[in-house]
Amino acid sequence: MFKLPTLNYELDALVPYISKNTMEFHYLKHHQTYVDNLNKLIAGTEFESMFLEEIVQKTAGKPEYTAIFNNAAQVWNHTFFWNCMRPNGGSRPQGRLLEDIIKTFGSYEDFCKEFKVAALAQFGSGWAWLVRRADGGLEIMKTANADNPLAHGLEALITIDVWEHAYYLDYQNRRGDFIDAFLNHLVDWKE
Ligand code: MN
Repeated sequence: MFKLPTLNYELDALVPYISKNTMEFHYLKHHQTYVDNLNKLIAGTEFESMFLEEIVQKTAGKPEYTAIFNNAAQVWNHTFFWNCMRPNGGSRPQGRLLEDIIKTFGSYEDFCKEFKVAALAQFGSGWAWLVRRADGGLEIMKTANADNPLAHGLEALITIDVWEHAYYLDYQNRRGDFIDAFLNHLVDWKE
């Protein structure tokens, strides 16, 4: 049985950039629902004893497992997203990651611009990511619905949820303002 993971911060810790109201719906209701649906779908199947990452990878791209993939990936995506933020975030990455970002995008500011373009351009529900390929190179990608880098053999470094449920209560249709708030005040590069 999977459980809703514990957050590293309180539900009101990201105010004013993400309200407690949004966290109560997004984390306590949406994320919980993905966990509950996943548990129901895998009960009594071969997936019951697997790690979450394994379920995502084994069900990706297989039409007969779409429902399991969607819920497993959304559980993984949300857990990853919560860990990509912290109160008083928005600082820059350091060390090798910063060097690689500068090498790939020109500067950290240029990375932020490209990341925002990708997050804005994701039509409908989905996610924007910074990922590391197997060859070590970085790239920005966007994915629709529950799809994620794990399903494509890529390592996720940072993500933003651009499903409307992630920002609509606080920003309504201003997705760009939510992306700016994420990059300037919330992102946690863990360095
Ligand atoms: Mn979400």
